[in-house]
Amino acid sequence: MFGVVSQEEIEKRVGRISQGVVSGARQLNSVNYNERAADTEISLLVIHNISLPPKEFGTPCVEDFFLNKLDSTLDPFFEGIADLKVSAHLFVKRTGDIVQFVNLNQRAWHAGVSSFHGREGCNDFSIGIEMEGADDLAYEEIQYQVLAYLSTLIEAEYPAISVENTVGHCDIAPGRKTDPGESFNWQHYRQLRKGFANN
Ligand SMILES: [Zn+2]
Repeated sequence: MFGVVSQEEIEKRVGRISQGVVSGARQLNSVNYNERAADTEISLLVIHNISLPPKEFGTPCVEDFFLNKLDSTLDPFFEGIADLKVSAHLFVKRTGDIVQFVNLNQRAWHAGVSSFHGREGCNDFSIGIEMEGADDLAYEEIQYQVLAYLSTLIEAEYPAISVENTVGHCDIAPGRKTDPGESFNWQHYRQLRKGFANN
């Protein structure tokens, strides 16, 4: 378990956003992205979960997966996904450490077939954050804190993003995706986010 740390510590850990880069994140550049259309306003924040192998935490496999380096022989589950070309902008580990794979101003490949308020192809206009986790396992408190503060920084940088258009992958791809799952405490997340925004 990773306990609660002070708001100051969270702010220091996450850093700031400059030109689409989160300064406190470890930068690992995925090639799974493309440019957004020039006139696109970034107006949606999508929360996901991932763990590789499923429900195993602290492995390097998520990073390998988004970097197209996943060894498909390591786990039977990997055979089905190793060739997928996907990414997310950010990954929040169980420890609260952050990895950035794609510049926020570029188009990461996290949402797949999706729609938000009737608008399809959510990758075009969204930022995707992966929480290291699983639908039915509680997230770490430090992950909520880091995610909430990241969200307030993102909202400051991309003002069309708000609490109202922060959704789960399950909300934009219902029937196909379930993450971040029933274990994700939206109320707690929103409260923390409001607390950071008011400071
Ligand atoms: Zn997802």
